[in-house]
Amino acid sequence: MPASSKIGAFLFFLVLFPTTVFVVYEVQSLREKEAMLTAIYDRQLDALLFAVNQHAWDVADAWAGQVTRMLENQPSDAPRTTPLADFVAARPALAALYLADSLLQRPLRLAPNDDAPPPAPLTLAPALARRLAQRRQQGFRQLEPVVLDSTTTPTRLALAFATGHPDPNTTLAALEIDADRFIRQVLGPKLTEVAGDRFAVGCFPTTGGAPVYGTTDQPLAEMQQQRTLWLFPDYVLGIRAQGETISEVMRGRLYRNLAIVLVGAGVLLAGVFFFYRTLGRELRLAQMKSDFVSNVSHELRTPLALIRMFAETLALGRVKTEEKKAEYYHIIGQETERLTHLVNNILNFARIEAGQKAYERTPAALNAIVEDLMHAYTYRLRSEGFTTEVALTPDLPPIEADTDAIAEALLNLIENAIKYSSRRKHLTIRTGQRPDAVFAEVQDQGIGISDAEQARIFDKFYRVSTGLVHDVKGTGLGLSLVQHILQAHGGHVEVESQLGQGSTFRLVFPLASTPAETPA
Ligand code: ADP
Repeated sequence: MPASSKIGAFLFFLVLFPTTVFVVYEVQSLREKEAMLTAIYDRQLDALLFAVNQHAWDVADAWAGQVTRMLENQPSDAPRTTPLADFVAARPALAALYLADSLLQRPLRLAPNDDAPPPAPLTLAPALARRLAQRRQQGFRQLEPVVLDSTTTPTRLALAFATGHPDPNTTLAALEIDADRFIRQVLGPKLTEVAGDRFAVGCFPTTGGAPVYGTTDQPLAEMQQQRTLWLFPDYVLGIRAQGETISEVMRGRLYRNLAIVLVGAGVLLAGVFFFYRTLGRELRLAQMKSDFVSNVSHELRTPLALIRMFAETLALGRVKTEEKKAEYYHIIGQETERLTHLVNNILNFARIEAGQKAYERTPAALNAIVEDLMHAYTYRLRSEGFTTEVALTPDLPPIEADTDAIAEALLNLIENAIKYSSRRKHLTIRTGQRPDAVFAEVQDQGIGISDAEQARIFDKFYRVSTGLVHDVKGTGLGLSLVQHILQAHGGHVEVESQLGQGSTFRLVFPLASTPAETPA
């Protein structure tokens, strides 16, 4: 794995690992907290329902106490029922009051309400009646629910208790409470008080349906906590929090936290990505620079060795024929030209890098530059085995250009065409005009450049590292110089190429007074 990939992977895990650990920890701890809070909260809801239940029971117990006291205040021999009847009448939730002897013979029913249910037989197991009396003697009052009529819904119930009255006809009493009214009139205010504005409470029939009384219309199933009403087992108290539940609040917090963590991790990952990309680029550049040094050494050594060899051969006077001499001189000349071109490229590049490269732009004719260049280069092209074609568009408008720099750019393109044409050696050089620009293009039928590489060949030191290019030496500076020159002229370089088919490089110069850019 290359160093940059290792560093990239390391940075990636540096961000991803803590993020994952945090997310898992957060979810886990939130689940625990939620369970704990829900338990506490449920207990609180339970306590509220308990308070309601207790209140209902206390009211019934208070009524029993009042009945007992009223009986005590009556002469034992002549029970006057009027105050008791008034007591019942004053409490619409109290359907009836039964007074009976310990054997429940001839129970007296005080039920003044018009809509009170018909009297029902009051039956109490003798053992239970005895226990109530005993409790009473011990000073306690026990209320015992007794079924009056199990065929109705809800079941008619009465709360029996011992009065402790000496009159045998009133030793036992039972309060028949109208559940519906009791819930609405007696429990209602308590439920409203308990609910406040934080809870929704209601008292529901166990048979289902809407609450008899409630601060909400929601059905029983929607309630978080339910408890049977002690006084009336046919009814259930239900309660839930208004608005968001604990789970919803916790989940909302979890999502918010996760979103923050994920955004943070995203930003970090983006940072890592850009860092990694820059690092990769720097490492590649370092690699290309070191390749450049070895390439330049090679490029220098080859022509120098040739020049030296032919110069020595000539100096020793070993070459006999004039023809051979001319050939050797030509080779020395050609290799010197190659060296000059190489050194020029490196010097120009160094000047550009140092920001010292200046271009002297004067009105110039593109066709003339091309013609001069071809005049000097046709021989070289021919000796490299190239056929050439020059197609100049006549009457091109002049451009503002540094003639030497443009010739240098075209020369680089021609040198590349020579280097990167292996089998079909044909070079076409053309000029042309567009509505707002003129151009010169160099076309070869060489090895071509893939689409992916086309975007990068203009980078300094960049060389295509696959295929046939391996065999060809170069510095990777040529095209970056060409691009720099064109940008300095306010123009640009276009490339059209197909692998195996050849390439066309086009130098496009804007017409009129397009201001020159100063490339970095
Ligand atoms: P050099 O030729 O010294 O390697 P350049 O900057 O001139 O550097 O070119 C960069 C790369 O672009 C070359 O290494 C080569 O792979 C590719 N290239 C340039 N010109 C051509 C061409 N005419 N045909 C095919 N490939 C080319």
